[in-house]
Amino acid sequence: MVMLIKYNFCIQHSGRLSTGRAIFAGQEDEMKVTFLGTGTSQGIPVIGCGCQVCQSDDPRDKRLRSSISVETGDQRIIVDCGPDFRQQMLRENITSIDAILVTHGHKDHLGGLDEIRAFNYINGRPADVYSSFGVQQMIKREFSYAFQKEPYPGVPEINLHRITNKPFMIGVDQIIPVRALHYDTTKFVFGFRINDFTYITDAVKISEAEKKKIKGSRVLVLNSLRKQKHYSHFNLEEALALMDEIKPEQGYLTHISHQMGRYREVSKELPGFVKLAFDKLSITF
Ligand SMILES: [Zn+2]
Ligand SMILES: [Zn+2]
Ligand SMILES: [Zn+2]
Repeated sequence: MVMLIKYNFCIQHSGRLSTGRAIFAGQEDEMKVTFLGTGTSQGIPVIGCGCQVCQSDDPRDKRLRSSISVETGDQRIIVDCGPDFRQQMLRENITSIDAILVTHGHKDHLGGLDEIRAFNYINGRPADVYSSFGVQQMIKREFSYAFQKEPYPGVPEINLHRITNKPFMIGVDQIIPVRALHYDTTKFVFGFRINDFTYITDAVKISEAEKKKIKGSRVLVLNSLRKQKHYSHFNLEEALALMDEIKPEQGYLTHISHQMGRYREVSKELPGFVKLAFDKLSITF
């Protein structure tokens, strides 16, 4: 088993992954996940902040708002569409999107939806956006001009698909929503499992029943804001505890605040099978 990790270069990564199935580049069931952004709502650097993380010249300490691109076969699914969406699409030279999954209604996860106009032009059709009913209402409020009866020409064309906590299909890919709390029981987020890959962001608590859906994931991404406790996001200790429970072959932490510390230092404190994600990190498995 080989996992390729790309960051301006490619290395072969082994260790715990060596016991997995043999999947190599070019095979049909290969998945590629690219971290478009790995920062919390303010991104890093934070405007006006002089801390050592915001001032770091390590590119791995620069974090746009969290989002990933998942390529399965010949589909590309984007999870979340925050305010940095345009920049992320340009940086990764993404010219085609099949679907956007929105985890929840916070601005750092849907603020960039106006920019899907570019894909409306390229694809000649509305963008397919999947979210809960509550998030649909927020999208309609936020981008009300796109949902008028007779909209102004050129507004984003969004085809909303309502999801519940039940598996659904996008093309040939089955998507399993994983429901987690983002504060109290009135605020929840959807994480998503696609094949052996699970991505959960902005969670603070997850039930035993939902955890069962994640078990067996070979690659697991969890949000981890900082070391100190937080009311609505896992801190480092909580994210690592869940990683340890699920025991993926490889875990990645995302939605990271400048309060977490610098990439280089924090990385040394992590167990071997967990890494801090960083923008532009690309994994193929
Ligand atoms: Zn967020
Ligand atoms: Zn800072
Ligand atoms: Zn949030």
